[in-house]
Amino acid sequence: MTDCIFCDIVAGQSPASFVHRDAIVSAFLDIRPVTPGHLLVIPNEHVVSIRDVPATCANQMFDVARRLAQVLSESSIVRADGVNLFVADGEAAGQDVFHAHIHVIPRFPGDQFVIGAGAWEHPAPTREELDDFADGLRRQSSD
Ligand code: AMP
Ligand code: ZN
Repeated sequence: MTDCIFCDIVAGQSPASFVHRDAIVSAFLDIRPVTPGHLLVIPNEHVVSIRDVPATCANQMFDVARRLAQVLSESSIVRADGVNLFVADGEAAGQDVFHAHIHVIPRFPGDQFVIGAGAWEHPAPTREELDDFADGLRRQSSD
C-alpha cells in the first residue's frame, strides 16, 4: 500500500471496477458517482497535476476519456444524453485525490448535477477586456 489510493488501485492493492486498462492509463467507476456510470481515467504512473502528465500519457488519457464518453452514450446500460469531461487541478479547483484524473460524467435531463459561477450573475466583460486578457496571456505563454 502507498499513501495514494489511485496508485493502490493500479497496483491491485485496493479494489476498483475497471472499464479499461492499458500500459499507460486505467479507467474505473467512481466510488461516489455523480450520476450512474461516472468514470475516472488516470495515468498508471503517479503524477499529482494534469499539467505534469507527460504529453503521450495526457493524449492517451483524453483519447480513452472521449472513447468512454462514446460508450456511455451508446451503451444500453447507461444511454447518457450528454457527457461532461472534468478535471480538478489543485486544491482550489476541488482536487481531492492528488493523482491526476479526468472525470467522465454521464448526463441526463434533470440529473441535478450543477455547474455554476457567481460571475454569471454579473455583466459579461467587453470584447476589449477579453482581447486585453488574451494579449497578456499570449505574451506570457512559453510556446
Ligand atoms: P477530485 O475531487 O476531482 O479529486 O475527485 C476525486 C474522485 O475520486 C471523487 O469523485 C471520488 O469519489 C473518487 N474516489 C476517491 N476514492 C476512490 C476509490 N477508491 N475508487 C474510486 N473512486 C474514488
Ligand atoms: Zn498515485
